[in-house]
Order: sequence, then structure tokens, then C-alpha cells
Amino acid sequence: MDFAFGPDDTAFRHEARTWLEARLTGAFADAAGHGAPGGEHERARTRLAWERELGAGGWIGLGWDADHGNRRATLTQQVVWAEEYARSRAPARLGHIGENLLAPTLIAHGDKDQQARHLPGIARGEEFWCQGYSEPGAGSDLASVRTTAVADGGRYRVTGQKIWTSLAREAHWCFVLARTEPGSTRHRGLSFLLVPMDQPGRIDVRPIRQMSGTSEFNEVFLDGAEAVGTVGGEGNGWRVAMGLLALERGVSTLVQQIGFEEELGRVLRLAAAGGVLDHDPVLRDRLVRQWAELRTMRWNALRTLGRTGDPGAPSVAKLLWGGWHRRLGELAVQVRGAAAAAGPGAWSPSYELDALQRLFLFTRADTIYGGSDEIQRNIIAERVLGLPRELR
Ligand SMILES: Cc1cc2nc3c(=O)[nH]c(=O)nc-3n(C[C@H](O)[C@H](O)[C@H](O)COP(=O)(O)OP(=O)(O)OC[C@H]3O[C@@H](n4cnc5c(N)ncnc54)[C@H](O)[C@@H]3O)c2cc1C
Repeated sequence: MDFAFGPDDTAFRHEARTWLEARLTGAFADAAGHGAPGGEHERARTRLAWERELGAGGWIGLGWDADHGNRRATLTQQVVWAEEYARSRAPARLGHIGENLLAPTLIAHGDKDQQARHLPGIARGEEFWCQGYSEPGAGSDLASVRTTAVADGGRYRVTGQKIWTSLAREAHWCFVLARTEPGSTRHRGLSFLLVPMDQPGRIDVRPIRQMSGTSEFNEVFLDGAEAVGTVGGEGNGWRVAMGLLALERGVSTLVQQIGFEEELGRVLRLAAAGGVLDHDPVLRDRLVRQWAELRTMRWNALRTLGRTGDPGAPSVAKLLWGGWHRRLGELAVQVRGAAAAAGPGAWSPSYELDALQRLFLFTRADTIYGGSDEIQRNIIAERVLGLPRELR
């Protein structure tokens, strides 16, 4: 693809920048840079209001198809928006699961009623979603899902336990992978269900408290919870769920890299100012390599923008960006030396983490969620390279 910004994109950039500058004042300006991984709890109410502000401005759903999104935005304009968003340091998004995972899935596999019911609320920044895939015995091996759903007069009753559910407390809805065919095993007999979260006595959300003191994700217990329907039809849940995972792994790569660029810039500035490079040539070498790898990922993302159907592409993208981001986290603490240590001491009065300490700690998760590195390598080995299946 020939990727270049044209006059329309320049006008779009001007509109986006002007809008962000005008809106990022008061409480929204105070929430700038808050809510990133590890800081999901920060300024939650302000960030909810910010989502509505984005919706009213027409900035949610730029990547959806023309019939459903807020406005028609070309791929280059979506990149422009992501660049301006990162540049403005606007608060981290609360609505990304609905906007970037559920909505494209509904557009691809949902029926007209489901699209009409959910897409407008997501586009207005008023309807939030969480992802109910993982269970205590079904993480990497997602086909081991044991949560069951029983048909009940056009609806379903769902019973089971989900775990590591991000944003379950903020979400109004959860998409749940559950077994609708009794006695089925592995990928067969699963359905992709839409479950409202507000069901006291039938849904119990328990935050998982982490070492850091925060609760980034939750356990979700379902006890006969009502699901309003399936997406893609009963028994087709695996296909729908995998399509959604491909979105999580790959499609948003370019947008994500724009955020990476901003983070790398901060690490580079810190390294240049701190004097650490005077006596650490290896660190200097690693920083340059990190920059070169990001350039390469970006060129590749631009080159393959909008191209779909390559079976290995989401796994390759996930492997590359997950590992790269994790290494950036390591560099972020290395450039600061001893001052990077967390906890009360000479350089920090509390256990409160700053942005770079968070970058280090929370990028450890990048090689786990959305399918771990080992799982991506297995997918590439078996489905792309035709190597023998791993021993089980
Ligand atoms: C920050 C974060 C947010 C998350 N948010 C959500 C969410 O919103 N909703 C949701 O449903 N889930 C969520 N998850 C869960 C995530 O999808 C799982 O953690 C992931 O799929 C791995 O599953 P597991 O934790 O059970 O680890 P396991 O599957 O038990 O894996 C443990 C280790 O064994 C390795 N391993 C497992 N199987 C194989 C194999 N066949 N070959 C080689 N190595 C293997 C893995 O790579 C890993 O290193 C989140 C996770 C994180 C870290």
C-alpha cells in the first residue's frame, strides 16, 4: 500500500488537534496520561465523562464500516487520530474493549438487531464492555472452557466462573464464551454470548488485589445469569471468539505503536539527560536497537495496513510488539539506575509507582494476555510452517 498523508488528512489532523486542545481542559486535562495499564483505577469518573465527550465529538468507531461508525474515516485518518491522541496525552480509554473488539465482531458476525442495539451506545461512549473468556482452567487452552449456558425461552442461563476479567466493574456488558451443547468438548458446542452485567445475585464481580495494591482485573461468578443471545449462532462461538482474538493481537498494531513511540521518546530523553550513557555503551546500543526495531514494526504495519487473511499475521504482530514493549519497560528502569527502585526511600516517599516504573512492571503482561508468546509460536509453527503438533 502506498501510504502518504494527503491534503484531506492534513485537514483532518487540524480538526482532531483543535478538538483535543479545546476539550482537554479542567478535569480532563488533570486526567492526562492517567488510566494506562496498572493505573486503570485512576480518575475513573473523569475518564467515563471523557468517553462521552469523545462520543459526542464523533471520535469513537472511526475504524468501523461506513454504516455504523460515527464518521467516515480512511485508514490514514485513523492513524492521524491515533497520533494526535497520543500526542495530546489524553486519558487512557475505558471503552476500548467495546469499540475495538466487540463492535467489529458484531459488524462481522452479529445480526441487524444486535448491531442496532449495541453499536450506537458504544459510539456515544456510554456502553462499556468486558471480555469473559479466561477461566481458572482455561487460559492458553481456551477450548477447555467449562462455563455452561442453557437455552431458556430465546435467552440463555449462564453458570460458571471467569477470571482475569479487565474492567468488569466498569462494564455494562460482558461477552462470554460458554458451552451451550451439553457433553461437547474442545472447540465444538461453544457459543459467544452477550451478558448484561447488572444482575444482582446472578453475577458477582470480585476484584483481584495485586501486589501493587491495585485491582486491575476481576473474577466474575455467574450463577444462572441471563444472556440475551448468541453472536454468530449457537455452537459457532469458537469461530467468533477467534476472530475477536485476531483483532486483539494484530489489527490495532499501528495505532498502538504510536503510543510506543511516545514512551520510547521519554526513555531516550531521560537517558540523554541523566548522564547514564557516559559509562554504559551497551545501554546506548540497546536504545538504538530498540528505536530501529520500532521503525521496522511501523514500516511493516504501514505496508500491511488493511490487508487481512494472512493466517500468521496476528500472531507475528503480537509476538513482535509484546516482546518489544517488554524490553522497553526494562530499558525504562535501566536508564534511571538505582532511582528506578519502587518503595519508600531516598528517592520516593511512598510505594506509589510513577509512569516508567509502571511501564516496567505492566509490560510483563504484554507477553501473556491475548495469547502468550508460547501460544503464538505454536500457532505459527503448526498453522503457518506446517511443523508437527506439539506433544501434549
Ligand atoms: C493484563 C491482563 C489482562 C487480561 N484481561 C483479560 C480479560 O479481560 N478477559 C479474559 O478473558 N482474560 C484476560 N486475561 C487472561 C489472559 O488471556 C490469560 O492470562 C492468558 O490467556 C494465559 O492464560 P493463563 O493465565 O491461564 O496461563 P496458562 O495458560 O496457565 O499458561 C501458563 C504458562 O504456560 C505456558 N503455556 C501454556 N500452554 C502452553 C503450550 N501448549 N505450549 C507452551 N507453553 C504453554 C504459557 O505460555 C504461560 O507461560 C488477561 C491477562 C492479563 C495478563
